Amino acid sequence: MTVETHAFQAEVGKLLDIVAHSLYSQKEIFLRELISNASDACDKLRYRALTEPALVEDDPELKVTLRLDKKAKTITVSDNGVGMDKDDLTGILGTIARSGTQAFVEGLSGDAAKDKDKDKDKEDVAVSLIGQFGVGFYSAFMVADRVEVVTRKAGTNQAWKWTSDGRGEFAIEPAERAARGTDVITHLKKDAKEYLETERIEHIVRTYSDHIGIPVALAPVKKEDDERVLNTASALWTRAKKDITEDQYKEFYHHAAHAFDDPWMTIHNQVEGVLSYTNLLFIPSMRPYDLFHPDRAASVKLYVKKVYITDNCEGLLPSYLRFVKGVVDSEDLPLNISREMMQHNPVVAKISSGLTKRVFGELKKSAEKKPDDYARFWETFGPVLKEGIYEDHANRDRILELARFKSSARSGWISVKDYVNAMKPGQDTIYYITGDTAEAALASPQLEGFRAKEVEVLLMTDPVDEFWLPQVGVYEEKAFKSATRGGADLAKIDGAAADEKADADETKEKTEAPDDDRTDLLVAALKLALGDKVKDVRRSERLTDSAVCLVADEGDLDMNLERLLKQHKQLDGQDLSPRILEINAGHALIGKLAVLAQEKAKPGEDISDPLLTDAAFMLLDQARILEGEPVLNAQAFARRLSQLMVEGL
Ligand code: ADP
Ligand code: MG
Repeated sequence: MTVETHAFQAEVGKLLDIVAHSLYSQKEIFLRELISNASDACDKLRYRALTEPALVEDDPELKVTLRLDKKAKTITVSDNGVGMDKDDLTGILGTIARSGTQAFVEGLSGDAAKDKDKDKDKEDVAVSLIGQFGVGFYSAFMVADRVEVVTRKAGTNQAWKWTSDGRGEFAIEPAERAARGTDVITHLKKDAKEYLETERIEHIVRTYSDHIGIPVALAPVKKEDDERVLNTASALWTRAKKDITEDQYKEFYHHAAHAFDDPWMTIHNQVEGVLSYTNLLFIPSMRPYDLFHPDRAASVKLYVKKVYITDNCEGLLPSYLRFVKGVVDSEDLPLNISREMMQHNPVVAKISSGLTKRVFGELKKSAEKKPDDYARFWETFGPVLKEGIYEDHANRDRILELARFKSSARSGWISVKDYVNAMKPGQDTIYYITGDTAEAALASPQLEGFRAKEVEVLLMTDPVDEFWLPQVGVYEEKAFKSATRGGADLAKIDGAAADEKADADETKEKTEAPDDDRTDLLVAALKLALGDKVKDVRRSERLTDSAVCLVADEGDLDMNLERLLKQHKQLDGQDLSPRILEINAGHALIGKLAVLAQEKAKPGEDISDPLLTDAAFMLLDQARILEGEPVLNAQAFARRLSQLMVEGL
């Protein structure tokens, strides 16, 4: 008989160290984790037995058994589930199999853990990270100085023993086990003897594991005792809503979603009719770290007539609802089709559309009744839900109504409906501006004219906005339009400042006419100087404070989208249409340049003057800087800037 010793994957070693030394609160959850794994193992076996009934014939009652041994100071969690073979043991218990656990460790060495060299801080970080990800099996090392796993995979004759003290190494050797299943034997540390007390164990199981669908039994401690089942042992979703407490829902969520936060919303329904199914769905309160990972699939568990089928049934929920967790149990799907066939089944499609509507309905209720609470949801999952606006044509309007936005005119979150209700007389367009953050969008010079007229602009700060906006086009016959686009139509809108401006215009009109001519000369001079670096130069309707800004022409790529595509290397080598440079005729700098243009102008000839050319490029570079873009030519820019400073000094 040989004992093989293996080193843990480096991350596991680090993780175990933290688990064993830094975690002081809530150690009892180790039991919940081990019972949860035992129950998962039974679910997996039941699924395999659908096609290989012989696997369970000798012992068909799946269950979890807890054994307390005061003398040996061990607590053992046994199951007659699917078991593990040697490869499983090395592969799963020796490496960080779960991506969640992997992220946990990355979190420890990442930003969250940086600058936190004091032990107390480290502990806080570890606890908060465990709160986010959980460490599953490894949590046994919070209470144990040695863990043994004796296991035999269903359908095999060889059992194996895995042993570790959680310090860098684990050993694997052949072992004896009468039948399939797994025993996890925790050798309790000195300060963890409380887990040998029957009452304590009973309490923990009732608190955290009551929802487990199979019996969790306590083996007799004394010879004369009987074995006792500690939990209700009926799958939680099959029970009546009124018999389920909030805590039970919460613990079920922890188990089913492998999550450690609390659910933000719980949706439990029994649907009967043409289609019969039960759904127990949860919307988490925290955003999982891999929400935007391309491979991330929905993670609602599919059961058929209480038999677990799969964790990732494609098509059970649309991908823009991939943050939803929980369980769906169908009466109408056949048990004998493969997981792969499941996703093409028309019944799944019908259940999916029922679930989707249900989720929308609940979100809508929340948005109406508890807007503040809904805002928390929106901040967490809004960017994902918005993917549905362009992916799911049939539900587009429903999702658009659920969507919330920041605005240039108010604080908090508003809906498109709120926006439309507050539109100014003469305004028939929904204006928006895109940017990386609300602050960046608000700082954009393009908003100046809108602000002056008190015309509200929606701030679109999620990458996904660039995709649904052009596709949706209108809401209640009002077109969406970027505030950075060509011909601003602000003149038509009776904004707050419009009346004053009209009065002022009347009195000024005559005296300002020559200014207008000068500005026209300047526009012509700038166009000549900049050539194909710009698409056009023109006076701005939208600027009040800044001298210049860049805008995209109608029909050209939105500037923020262009930046986004560049970041993602989608536009390599492609020639982009140049922007329009808008100048603010009311700005002192533009006024002075216009005077200069007039001085240099000769009838019948183009204005070409080195100072005006430098000024033209300085204006363009300034506008680019305001957009967060690099100047055209850094050396030329520095030379011109120095030149201007010399002249100014
Ligand atoms: P998770 O349960 O989220 O997958 P854990 O750390 O709790 O993560 O468990 C890691 C893996 O170890 C499980 O996914 C499973 O493959 C295996 N495992 C743990 N306990 C058992 C068990 N009692 N029977 C069979 N496999 C188990
Ligand atoms: Mg687990």
